[in-house]
Amino acid sequence: MTFTRSLALVLVSVVAQGCIEPDDVSYGEVASEVSVSTYVRSGCSTAVVLGLSRQIADEVACMNPRALTSFAPGGRLTITSNAVLPYLAPTAKTALERVTANSSIQVNSGFRTVAQQYLLYQWYRQGRCGITAAATPGRSNHQSGRALDVANYSSRITAMRNAGWSHPIPNDPVHFDHTSSPDIRGEDVLAFQRLWNRNNPNDRIDEDGMYGSDTEARLRVAPATGFARGASCNTGFDVGGAKVLSVDGPDRVAPNAHATYSITLQNTGATSWPSTTRVVVADGTASEIYDPASWTSPTEVGPINTAIPAGGTGVIDIEIETPAVTEETPVFAQLALSDGSEQFGTLNVALTVTPNGDHEQSAEAGDQHDDESAHTTGGCNAGGASSGFAALLGPMLFGLVRRRRR
Ligand SMILES: [Zn+2]
Repeated sequence: MTFTRSLALVLVSVVAQGCIEPDDVSYGEVASEVSVSTYVRSGCSTAVVLGLSRQIADEVACMNPRALTSFAPGGRLTITSNAVLPYLAPTAKTALERVTANSSIQVNSGFRTVAQQYLLYQWYRQGRCGITAAATPGRSNHQSGRALDVANYSSRITAMRNAGWSHPIPNDPVHFDHTSSPDIRGEDVLAFQRLWNRNNPNDRIDEDGMYGSDTEARLRVAPATGFARGASCNTGFDVGGAKVLSVDGPDRVAPNAHATYSITLQNTGATSWPSTTRVVVADGTASEIYDPASWTSPTEVGPINTAIPAGGTGVIDIEIETPAVTEETPVFAQLALSDGSEQFGTLNVALTVTPNGDHEQSAEAGDQHDDESAHTTGGCNAGGASSGFAALLGPMLFGLVRRRRR
């Protein structure tokens, strides 16, 4: 396990594409942090924007406390990647629980923020990550907490339908909608606008919940791990004294292979964490992702090696070895920080082990049709000839080149 400094200075090089504006360095303080646009051309997991996405989810909860509720893996429910933000509309969560009472469900994606949808859409436009189509930011039902992508969909369509989930699109097979839950699309955009204005009082934008060019320009330069000032009410998606701001690592890994997950953590408590702070398996059992080469034991990853001060952030690199499975298998490991006697924060690693190999794929691929209204809200992507053409071609290409999905 190694330890590196927090929030490295990253120079973002941007090539103007379509009508997207090049980065503007006038946004001041955030320019020194890793911005969302850093990931437009690298990586395939939206877990890199978890910190910002959690702030957006928190802000939605501040504005509309009953809009979203969290769900946790366990029992018959598994989560296939670190990018999954485990929130749904309460009625959608209840409908999911009706299914998992009797059937296993592997969740690829639930609630998504505009920051996640922005990256997925940009990756789609570049033909990256196996994403052959994506809803424009602001228009996905995932942004309303009323959609789910299910990895093992093929054997669950009837059970999901019986619980109120529609399976509307033949060529987006992982996607299910729960349209009897409220449509709150736009609230995540409004939440981002409020966060931006709170942190950039000299560069205020309209708080209208509409995804347009002003919002997109700020989203690109927003810090991926979150703003200095977060949600205005503390609803506490913050576990213990450790807040996970991002997880950078692959969603999909071959069996018997090694991978590294760089987890950016914030110490939100009042006590500094010494370098001897240990990362252990939360439930104390031998981990499926135990790496004999780097871990202290099957139940302990090892010390963090460098202190993280109260209020500070740091990056912990966790190396893993995947199990030798022969079928596609989601693996979820809950790790915890420990002072030797007590655990005080959790960090999760979630991935899918892929015997057939899936490099540079996103677990969140798909979803071109989750915008059931096909209505765009203006802004850069609304009327551009190239994006319109791509939107028309998307479903056709999707049928031809769609990757294995089972
Ligand atoms: Zn979906």
